[in-house]
Amino acid sequence: MITKKITVHGVVQGVGFRPYVYQLATQHNLYGWVNNDDQGVNIVLTTTPEKHETFLYALQENPPPLSKISNITIHELALESFSNFQILHSHESGSKSTLISADIGICEACIEDIQNTQDRRYKYAFTNCTNCGPRYTIIKTVPYDRAHTSMKNFTMCKECKTEYEDPMNRRYHAQPICCPNCGPTITLYDNKNSEIAQGKKALEKVTQSLQLGDIVAIKGLGGFHLVCDATSNYAVKKLRQRKNRPSKPFAVMCKDSVQAQSIALMNEEEHRVLNSKEKPIVLLHKEKINMLADAVAPNIDRIGLFLPYTPLHLLLFEHFDKPIVATSANLSDEPIIRKKDELMRKLGFVADYVLDFDREIINACDDSVVQVCNNQLFKLRNARGYAPTAITHKKEKPKAILAIGANQKNSIALALDKDILLSPHIGDLNSIEAMEYFDRTVETFCRFYDFKPELIVCDKHPNYETTKWAKSQEIPVVQIQHHYAHVLSCMAEYGLDEKVLAFAFDGTGYGDDGNIWGGEVFIASKKEYIRIKHFKYFKLLGGEIAIKQIKRLGLSLLFDNYTLEELVCMDNPTLKAFSSKEIELLHTVWNNGLNAALTSSVGRLFDAVCSLAGIEQHVSYEGEAGLLIEQAYDASSKEYFEFDISHNEIDIHKAIQAMVKERSAQVICTKFINMLVEVIITISQKNSTLPVVLTGGVFQNKTLLEAVTKRLDELQRQYYYSKEVPLNDAGIAVGQLYSQL
Ligand SMILES: [Zn+2]
Ligand SMILES: [Zn+2]
Repeated sequence: MITKKITVHGVVQGVGFRPYVYQLATQHNLYGWVNNDDQGVNIVLTTTPEKHETFLYALQENPPPLSKISNITIHELALESFSNFQILHSHESGSKSTLISADIGICEACIEDIQNTQDRRYKYAFTNCTNCGPRYTIIKTVPYDRAHTSMKNFTMCKECKTEYEDPMNRRYHAQPICCPNCGPTITLYDNKNSEIAQGKKALEKVTQSLQLGDIVAIKGLGGFHLVCDATSNYAVKKLRQRKNRPSKPFAVMCKDSVQAQSIALMNEEEHRVLNSKEKPIVLLHKEKINMLADAVAPNIDRIGLFLPYTPLHLLLFEHFDKPIVATSANLSDEPIIRKKDELMRKLGFVADYVLDFDREIINACDDSVVQVCNNQLFKLRNARGYAPTAITHKKEKPKAILAIGANQKNSIALALDKDILLSPHIGDLNSIEAMEYFDRTVETFCRFYDFKPELIVCDKHPNYETTKWAKSQEIPVVQIQHHYAHVLSCMAEYGLDEKVLAFAFDGTGYGDDGNIWGGEVFIASKKEYIRIKHFKYFKLLGGEIAIKQIKRLGLSLLFDNYTLEELVCMDNPTLKAFSSKEIELLHTVWNNGLNAALTSSVGRLFDAVCSLAGIEQHVSYEGEAGLLIEQAYDASSKEYFEFDISHNEIDIHKAIQAMVKERSAQVICTKFINMLVEVIITISQKNSTLPVVLTGGVFQNKTLLEAVTKRLDELQRQYYYSKEVPLNDAGIAVGQLYSQL
């Protein structure tokens, strides 16, 4: 007989791991104990070496659905004899490294409970169990115990306590366990903060007002949504007008997947992801004829759909059977709102009613957004259901490194013992409130892991808020070039430590030469990068303003190719969008280069092409031009625009000249995307021994990504693009961190 201590690391707390171990040990007739501490789950057993082996094997065979074992360590202890197997209480040890589970959508068993008239949780909006419910959003600190969550003020009733203490019960040690007798309740308020109704009555009132076209703010797991009837143009337009959001598509929550299938086309994988326990927003192609109001996603053939993920949402749909717009409640440039009072203050003029409950959201968390590319899940926004996200690394005892990402789509990353830990999406840091949210997230993660940063990694951009923040911390700072961080982010996900040929195409990032990069080709390793090619610089006429007024980008490319005299007699949609005075004025700007930063950005090229093709001259949200160009793409055509590749530049002046002569927007869009594919393939063929990395926000363009990867497959090239970590700026922090591991 020997006594061994087995420590299981990973996402193993709050996911039913101890009862799983208890049941397993009981089945195997083993004696000893199991507990949780801030390292993970510890199991101590005294038995024969053979039985230890069998147990260890069985342990990894069928762990609880929400758990994720990252590794297991085993130590032999002095022989100790036990007379039974017990679950012991949590205690805290030295360093904290247990991973915190993400919030998970309601499970099938809990859905049965709330639908069963005989169950004591019948129609109860906060039903959860070890396999589902809130986690990250209610946790103040680890170890994950009720006292460390926002459930601490709710004392368990006798029945809940019995379930909580029974290792054979599905709710054994489910920290947010509760029932109508002891748990949170819902309350409806009008937008003057007066209480209107509670419980069932509140839900009935909500559905009545949705029927009437009202807007209701509804508290979810990680914050409030603004909700209205998605089939009513009246309601959706009212929401757009009140929120001052002219055309950016809204996400839609459907009653169930049958309803979702009547709105959007989906393949098997998309259907699986939509129904998965993480319940993300999935970007799909709309059915040509569907029940949604046109104002939900005007002019775009895509739609983001998701399914109810809390009991509260499910109960809502018992009375309301139409899809609902469910968009994060926030002011433009500010983070999602998680408290009723703030909601009343900031969005009281948008929402007619507010449905609140008394379980506090400790950590805000947006909805995740994903799409399926090449039949695989591909994250665009990493948040509820997925985050915090752990990516294993191989570095022994890393320093306490904190990487703080970029300014747009910000998220942060920490180097833990065995993992790079990525926070949920924080968002664009364009407001004081957003910076406060950033600060709060840094503080939260440092508290969770007793993490005292010894090194901060940030972007090279001197004016990023994150850069300024890093430099104010009195901790050593390393700055990593934006697109190199994009490349490293992909390398981190796949644990690559070799030389790669990387295409980093995105919106904008600060370049080593002070210009705005975004169409970069690197030969990169973990240690260094060489910029071997880039798209030939063109001018952002008027600077930042050109990002929305995309006609300025089209005009800039015209100036690069034609004289003012030639342009005067040209018939072109971009030119038509200006008066002749404006054209002359901007020509002067172009000529003297003042307020006309140089850029190699492929994202901006998409904008320019959108203008030159006459599709749109002004965009109101990021990625709009890309979506419109994808929409016009003809998959049956293999034609592409000509281009030149010199020793260090990708020059597309021939393409621009051909575009000007072309009348069909569809041909322009198709030949443009195919040209980008050809550029990548041509350069890849010249560097045929290196694995290819595709990274940067431009590759969120599903048409482009699938076209490039198809060609790389045909050529039997090894290639990588990240899926776990978003390949847009949300993944930058992971890359920054990887550079130091
Ligand atoms: Zn459940
Ligand atoms: Zn109870």
